[in-house]
Amino acid sequence: MITLRADLHMHTIGSGHAFSTVKEMADAACLKKLDVIAITDHGSAMEGASEAIYFRNLSVFPRSIGSVTVLRGIEANIMDMDATLDADEKQLSRLDWVVASLHENVTPPASPADHTQMYLKLADNPLVDMIGHPDTPAYEFDYERVVREFGAKGKIVEVNNEHAFRHGARNGENCRKIASLCKKYGVRIAVNSDAHIFSNVGVADAALAMLGEIGFPEDLILNASASRVMDYVKNKRLQKEQASS
Ligand SMILES: [Zn+2]
Ligand SMILES: [Zn+2]
Repeated sequence: MITLRADLHMHTIGSGHAFSTVKEMADAACLKKLDVIAITDHGSAMEGASEAIYFRNLSVFPRSIGSVTVLRGIEANIMDMDATLDADEKQLSRLDWVVASLHENVTPPASPADHTQMYLKLADNPLVDMIGHPDTPAYEFDYERVVREFGAKGKIVEVNNEHAFRHGARNGENCRKIASLCKKYGVRIAVNSDAHIFSNVGVADAALAMLGEIGFPEDLILNASASRVMDYVKNKRLQKEQASS
Protein backbone atom coordinates (compact mmCIF):
# COMPACT_ATOMS: atom_id res chain seq x y z
CA MET A 1 0.00 0.00 0.00
CA ILE A 2 1.42 3.34 -1.08
CA THR A 3 1.26 6.23 1.40
CA LEU A 4 1.74 9.82 0.35
CA ARG A 5 3.97 12.16 2.34
CA ALA A 6 3.23 15.30 0.35
CA ASP A 7 0.36 16.89 -1.58
CA LEU A 8 1.69 19.02 -4.42
CA HIS A 9 -1.47 20.57 -5.87
CA MET A 10 -4.01 22.59 -3.90
CA HIS A 11 -5.85 25.92 -3.99
CA THR A 12 -6.58 28.57 -1.38
CA ILE A 13 -8.90 31.59 -1.36
CA GLY A 14 -6.22 33.18 -3.57
CA SER A 15 -7.67 31.23 -6.51
CA GLY A 16 -11.02 33.02 -6.26
CA HIS A 17 -13.10 29.81 -6.32
CA ALA A 18 -11.52 27.87 -3.43
CA PHE A 19 -12.44 28.26 0.18
CA SER A 20 -9.59 27.86 2.66
CA THR A 21 -6.52 29.79 3.73
CA VAL A 22 -2.87 28.68 3.55
CA LYS A 23 -2.97 28.08 7.32
CA GLU A 24 -6.10 25.94 7.08
CA MET A 25 -4.57 23.86 4.28
CA ALA A 26 -1.35 23.37 6.29
CA ASP A 27 -3.28 22.43 9.45
CA ALA A 28 -5.32 19.90 7.47
CA ALA A 29 -2.11 18.44 6.02
CA CYS A 30 -0.68 18.12 9.53
CA LEU A 31 -3.77 16.21 10.70
CA LYS A 32 -3.38 13.88 7.71
CA LYS A 33 0.28 13.30 8.61
CA LEU A 34 1.66 14.91 5.47
CA ASP A 35 5.14 16.44 5.70
CA VAL A 36 5.00 18.77 2.68
CA ILE A 37 2.38 20.74 0.77
CA ALA A 38 2.64 22.92 -2.31
CA ILE A 39 0.20 25.82 -2.53
CA THR A 40 -0.60 26.08 -6.24
CA ASP A 41 -3.18 28.78 -6.80
CA HIS A 42 -4.43 29.35 -10.33
CA GLY A 43 -2.51 31.71 -12.59
CA SER A 44 -4.05 35.09 -13.40
CA ALA A 45 -5.79 34.03 -16.63
CA MET A 46 -8.31 31.95 -14.69
CA GLU A 47 -11.49 33.86 -13.92
CA GLY A 48 -11.38 35.22 -10.36
CA ALA A 49 -7.72 34.25 -9.78
CA SER A 50 -5.14 36.56 -8.25
CA GLU A 51 -3.07 39.08 -10.18
CA ALA A 52 0.66 38.66 -10.78
CA ILE A 53 1.43 40.63 -7.59
CA TYR A 54 0.00 37.77 -5.51
CA PHE A 55 2.59 35.34 -6.90
CA ARG A 56 5.40 37.91 -6.60
CA ASN A 57 4.58 38.15 -2.90
CA LEU A 58 4.59 34.42 -2.13
CA SER A 59 7.96 34.91 -0.44
CA VAL A 60 6.01 36.01 2.66
CA PHE A 61 4.98 32.37 3.20
CA PRO A 62 6.78 30.82 6.14
CA ARG A 63 8.90 27.85 5.05
CA SER A 64 6.89 25.68 7.42
CA ILE A 65 3.66 25.85 9.38
CA GLY A 66 3.78 23.53 12.38
CA SER A 67 5.38 20.33 11.14
CA VAL A 68 4.42 20.93 7.50
CA THR A 69 6.86 22.32 4.94
CA VAL A 70 5.09 24.77 2.64
CA LEU A 71 6.25 25.08 -0.97
CA ARG A 72 5.50 28.23 -2.93
CA GLY A 73 3.83 27.25 -6.15
CA ILE A 74 1.44 28.10 -8.95
CA GLU A 75 -0.86 26.24 -11.30
CA ALA A 76 -0.06 28.25 -14.39
CA ASN A 77 -2.48 28.18 -17.30
CA ILE A 78 -1.27 26.91 -20.65
CA MET A 79 -2.66 29.71 -22.81
CA ASP A 80 -2.25 28.39 -26.35
CA MET A 81 -0.84 25.63 -28.49
CA ASP A 82 2.61 27.26 -28.32
CA ALA A 83 2.62 26.30 -24.62
CA THR A 84 2.70 29.95 -23.50
CA LEU A 85 2.07 30.25 -19.76
CA ASP A 86 0.21 33.05 -17.95
CA ALA A 87 3.19 33.93 -15.75
CA ASP A 88 6.53 35.24 -16.95
CA GLU A 89 9.93 33.68 -16.54
CA LYS A 90 10.92 35.95 -13.67
CA GLN A 91 7.80 35.08 -11.67
CA LEU A 92 8.08 31.35 -12.30
CA SER A 93 11.79 31.15 -11.56
CA ARG A 94 11.19 32.45 -8.01
CA LEU A 95 8.79 29.64 -7.13
CA ASP A 96 9.53 26.21 -5.64
CA TRP A 97 6.97 24.31 -7.66
CA VAL A 98 5.40 25.13 -11.03
CA VAL A 99 2.43 23.16 -12.33
CA ALA A 100 1.26 23.81 -15.91
CA SER A 101 -2.27 22.81 -16.87
CA LEU A 102 -4.88 23.23 -19.58
CA HIS A 103 -8.34 24.44 -18.54
CA GLU A 104 -11.29 24.54 -20.90
CA ASN A 105 -12.59 27.86 -19.56
CA VAL A 106 -9.23 29.48 -20.38
CA THR A 107 -7.91 27.77 -23.52
CA PRO A 108 -10.18 26.20 -26.14
CA PRO A 109 -9.29 22.62 -27.11
CA ALA A 110 -7.70 22.09 -30.53
CA SER A 111 -6.88 18.83 -32.34
CA PRO A 112 -5.03 15.88 -30.74
CA ALA A 113 -2.09 16.62 -33.08
CA ASP A 114 -1.99 20.23 -31.83
CA HIS A 115 -2.14 19.08 -28.19
CA THR A 116 0.74 16.69 -28.87
CA GLN A 117 2.89 19.46 -30.34
CA MET A 118 1.95 21.74 -27.45
CA TYR A 119 2.99 19.19 -24.80
CA LEU A 120 6.26 18.49 -26.64
CA LYS A 121 7.01 22.24 -26.45
CA LEU A 122 5.95 22.39 -22.80
CA ALA A 123 8.38 19.55 -22.01
CA ASP A 124 11.15 21.87 -23.20
CA ASN A 125 10.28 24.60 -20.69
CA PRO A 126 12.80 24.27 -17.85
CA LEU A 127 10.59 26.31 -15.50
CA VAL A 128 7.80 23.73 -15.47
CA ASP A 129 7.99 21.00 -12.83
CA MET A 130 4.73 19.12 -13.15
CA ILE A 131 2.23 18.56 -15.95
CA GLY A 132 -1.17 19.12 -14.31
CA HIS A 133 -4.05 16.66 -14.91
CA PRO A 134 -3.17 15.56 -18.47
CA ASP A 135 -6.22 13.24 -18.54
CA THR A 136 -8.84 15.72 -19.85
CA PRO A 137 -10.79 14.04 -22.69
CA ALA A 138 -11.09 17.35 -24.61
CA TYR A 139 -7.28 17.65 -24.74
CA GLU A 140 -6.26 14.12 -25.72
CA PHE A 141 -2.81 13.77 -27.28
CA ASP A 142 -0.31 11.12 -28.38
CA TYR A 143 0.29 9.73 -24.89
CA GLU A 144 3.08 7.34 -25.86
CA ARG A 145 5.18 9.98 -27.61
CA VAL A 146 4.61 12.74 -25.09
CA VAL A 147 5.08 10.66 -21.93
CA ARG A 148 8.48 9.53 -23.23
CA GLU A 149 9.41 13.16 -23.84
CA PHE A 150 8.25 14.17 -20.34
CA GLY A 151 10.54 11.46 -18.99
CA ALA A 152 13.46 12.59 -21.15
CA LYS A 153 13.05 16.18 -19.93
CA GLY A 154 12.59 15.24 -16.25
CA LYS A 155 8.99 16.43 -15.98
CA ILE A 156 6.74 15.04 -13.26
CA VAL A 157 3.40 13.79 -14.60
CA GLU A 158 0.41 14.34 -12.36
CA VAL A 159 -2.14 11.76 -11.29
CA ASN A 160 -4.83 14.13 -10.07
CA ASN A 161 -7.35 12.37 -7.83
CA GLU A 162 -10.08 14.99 -8.23
CA HIS A 163 -9.72 15.56 -11.96
CA ALA A 164 -9.23 11.95 -13.03
CA PHE A 165 -11.74 10.25 -10.80
CA ARG A 166 -14.54 12.72 -10.15
CA HIS A 167 -15.07 14.16 -13.63
CA GLY A 168 -16.32 11.20 -15.63
CA ALA A 169 -15.11 7.75 -16.62
CA ARG A 170 -13.02 8.88 -19.59
CA ASN A 171 -10.77 11.04 -17.42
CA GLY A 172 -10.08 7.99 -15.27
CA GLU A 173 -9.38 5.80 -18.31
CA ASN A 174 -6.99 8.38 -19.76
CA CYS A 175 -5.26 8.77 -16.41
CA ARG A 176 -4.75 5.01 -16.19
CA LYS A 177 -3.30 4.90 -19.74
CA ILE A 178 -0.91 7.74 -18.95
CA ALA A 179 0.15 6.18 -15.63
CA SER A 180 0.75 2.82 -17.36
CA LEU A 181 3.03 4.57 -19.87
CA CYS A 182 4.86 6.31 -17.01
CA LYS A 183 5.46 2.87 -15.51
CA LYS A 184 6.60 1.49 -18.89
CA TYR A 185 9.09 4.29 -19.49
CA GLY A 186 10.15 4.94 -15.88
CA VAL A 187 8.67 8.46 -15.76
CA ARG A 188 8.09 9.99 -12.33
CA ILE A 189 4.61 10.98 -11.23
CA ALA A 190 3.03 12.91 -8.35
CA VAL A 191 -0.33 11.92 -6.89
CA ASN A 192 -2.30 14.92 -5.66
CA SER A 193 -5.67 16.04 -4.32
CA ASP A 194 -6.16 19.34 -6.20
CA ALA A 195 -8.04 20.31 -3.04
CA HIS A 196 -10.12 23.50 -3.20
CA ILE A 197 -11.01 23.26 0.50
CA PHE A 198 -9.13 22.08 3.60
CA SER A 199 -11.10 18.87 4.00
CA ASN A 200 -9.83 17.54 0.65
CA VAL A 201 -6.13 17.95 1.40
CA GLY A 202 -4.33 14.63 0.93
CA VAL A 203 -7.38 12.87 -0.53
CA ALA A 204 -6.12 10.51 -3.24
CA ASP A 205 -7.85 7.17 -2.58
CA ALA A 206 -9.12 6.53 -6.11
CA ALA A 207 -5.79 7.46 -7.67
CA LEU A 208 -3.86 5.20 -5.29
CA ALA A 209 -6.29 2.33 -5.92
CA MET A 210 -5.73 2.66 -9.69
CA LEU A 211 -1.94 2.76 -9.22
CA GLY A 212 -2.17 -0.37 -7.05
CA GLU A 213 -4.16 -2.14 -9.79
CA ILE A 214 -1.52 -1.42 -12.43
CA GLY A 215 1.35 -2.27 -10.06
CA PHE A 216 2.87 1.20 -10.26
CA PRO A 217 6.33 1.28 -8.64
CA GLU A 218 6.53 3.30 -5.43
CA ASP A 219 9.97 4.69 -6.25
CA LEU A 220 8.57 6.57 -9.27
CA ILE A 221 6.06 8.45 -7.08
CA LEU A 222 7.79 11.70 -6.14
CA ASN A 223 5.48 12.48 -3.23
CA ALA A 224 5.52 9.03 -1.65
CA SER A 225 8.63 10.35 0.14
CA ALA A 226 9.12 13.79 1.68
CA SER A 227 12.88 13.67 1.14
CA ARG A 228 12.34 12.83 -2.53
CA VAL A 229 10.23 15.99 -2.90
CA MET A 230 12.68 18.17 -0.99
CA ASP A 231 15.68 16.77 -2.89
CA TYR A 232 13.89 17.65 -6.12
CA VAL A 233 13.23 21.22 -4.95
CA LYS A 234 16.78 21.69 -3.59
CA ASN A 235 18.26 20.37 -6.80
CA LYS A 236 16.16 22.78 -8.79
CA ARG A 237 17.30 25.73 -6.62
CA LEU A 238 20.90 24.64 -7.07
CA GLN A 239 20.53 24.45 -10.84
CA LYS A 240 19.02 27.95 -10.89
CA GLU A 241 21.87 29.35 -8.81
CA GLN A 242 24.42 27.72 -11.10
CA ALA A 243 22.64 29.05 -14.18
CA SER A 244 22.60 32.60 -12.81
CA SER A 245 26.22 32.64 -11.55
ZN1 LIG B 1 -6.32 22.56 -12.94
ZN1 LIG C 1 -5.86 22.81 -9.56
